[in-house]
Amino acid sequence: MTFAELKLAPHILKAVAACGYTEPTPVQAAAVPRALENVDLLATAQTGTGKTAAFVLPALQRLSSPPQGPGRGPRVLVLTPTRELAQQVTDAVRTYGAFMRVRSGAILGGMPYHAQLRLLSAPVDFIVATPGRLVDLLDRRSLDLSRLELLVLDEADRMLDMGFSDDVDRIAAASPATRQTLLFTATMDSAMARLAGRLLREPERIDI
Ligand code: AMP
Repeated sequence: MTFAELKLAPHILKAVAACGYTEPTPVQAAAVPRALENVDLLATAQTGTGKTAAFVLPALQRLSSPPQGPGRGPRVLVLTPTRELAQQVTDAVRTYGAFMRVRSGAILGGMPYHAQLRLLSAPVDFIVATPGRLVDLLDRRSLDLSRLELLVLDEADRMLDMGFSDDVDRIAAASPATRQTLLFTATMDSAMARLAGRLLREPERIDI
């Protein structure tokens, strides 16, 4: 399979080509076309399989179309267990979004609040966040998720291990029920199945 077959917009394909990638990895080939069709996904994929691009590319394609509703809040939210992973995702958004305009930002525990409030005071389309700090901002009413179109959970098993289950539920509850949700995990167990049952609607399974 080639990237051109994934039905991505030319400006996204150009950024992928600039990375030197010649063909999609298996998780990208499986996830990108279905994600572009607005299907919820439950994907089991390890780090190093190319899973970041598997959700960042369709997220950027979504941002290439006009928003589904009015407002200023983010349209895409990626939750990660750690600040380091959030930073990697943010870098990927910059890389794959190099030929389009994306207003993105990171909301991370340990960052000064004033910097995050400044980020949120301007319109922002794509947020990458760790769950705890994002819930703080929801509690302070500094963040409105009513415009959210796509929620991604990256390394969801690590988020559960770190005790973020309630925070993830609260974030999902604050976002529209009509959103698309993509869940990526390295492992599947009953706790993950329950989380998926709460967050995803008729998900398609991808096992890499
Ligand atoms: P990830 O699993 O998302 O952490 O990605 C692992 C590494 O694979 C990263 O360094 C990516 O830049 C790289 N990568 C992602 N997609 C591809 C691809 N289609 N071809 C070659 N390398 C890729």
